[in-house]
Amino acid sequence: MPARIMDGTSVAASLLAETAQRVKDFVARTGRTPLLATALVGDDPASHTYVRMKSARCARVGIASRRVALPAETTTDDLVARIAELSADPAVDGILLQHPVPAHIDERAAFEAIAPDKDVDGVTMHSFAAMAFGEPGFHSCTPGGILRLLDAYDVPLTGRRAVVIGRSPILGKPVGMLLLARDATVTYCHSKTTDLAATVAEADIVIAAVGRPELVRGAWLKPGAVVVDAGYNPGNIGDVEYAAAEHRASLITPVPGGVGPMTIAVLLAQTVQAAETRG
Ligand code: NAP
Repeated sequence: MPARIMDGTSVAASLLAETAQRVKDFVARTGRTPLLATALVGDDPASHTYVRMKSARCARVGIASRRVALPAETTTDDLVARIAELSADPAVDGILLQHPVPAHIDERAAFEAIAPDKDVDGVTMHSFAAMAFGEPGFHSCTPGGILRLLDAYDVPLTGRRAVVIGRSPILGKPVGMLLLARDATVTYCHSKTTDLAATVAEADIVIAAVGRPELVRGAWLKPGAVVVDAGYNPGNIGDVEYAAAEHRASLITPVPGGVGPMTIAVLLAQTVQAAETRG
């Protein structure tokens, strides 16, 4: 029997509707509109498209957005100064630095200029530590979206064996931390892992976060595994061999329409949360 699909578009739509209501309540209560500031360096067309999409989504739930577009030759110091200004600006509730930034910029330094209470994209070391320690704080948006999707489908996590493939600071590492905080037994795999197929075969829950088309073969999966494919490769191809995986998994995310829509929905939910906390 083919796996049940975890429909990220529909779960994200519920979260967006809930966020729109929270925005309305916030505006009625305070007389001000939550504001997300987006900083973008350079003229990469894909990054500009992402930022436009995010502004359009903000507008749909009633969040205002401010775009700060900086030239490609911006230095780390300039970028840090601009982000520090946004951090200090009382009108700004959330800050998103569109990444990757150009290679000459120290991305970590730029992220760390985001005030922790405005880090709605969950990229700072402060937010990572909160995720790792199980303390309140903002989640990295894609990991936060993955957890919400698993919860929406009532996937039990306690005591289950989760294998995370990928260990990037914004995706692989934090999603493992969030699963650990929910009492899953977590194994990380990465490019130096020697026994990927055998490790995946033991997983009750597989999170693919690599960026390699169909790296995870359907035949590797334990029958009944829950499969979350965060990968997005050209041609709408995920990191999991979907055609084979859907016949072994019990639940699986499609690409597109799985993890992707959850990411932006979490960003907006965290922006209104930041506004509510700041008052
Ligand atoms: P990344 O920074 O390039 O990290 C990729 C990770 O995969 C690294 O940890 C790398 O290991 C590991 N890896 C590479 N080749 C591998 C292999 N053959 N076997 C096992 N692990 C391997 O990428 P990312 O930013 O985390 O993104 C990963 C994917 O998720 C991409 O397709 C991206 O487009 C997608 N993504 C989607 C969303 C969304 O909203 N849906 C958001 C963010 C990212 P090393 O650490 O050893 O190099």
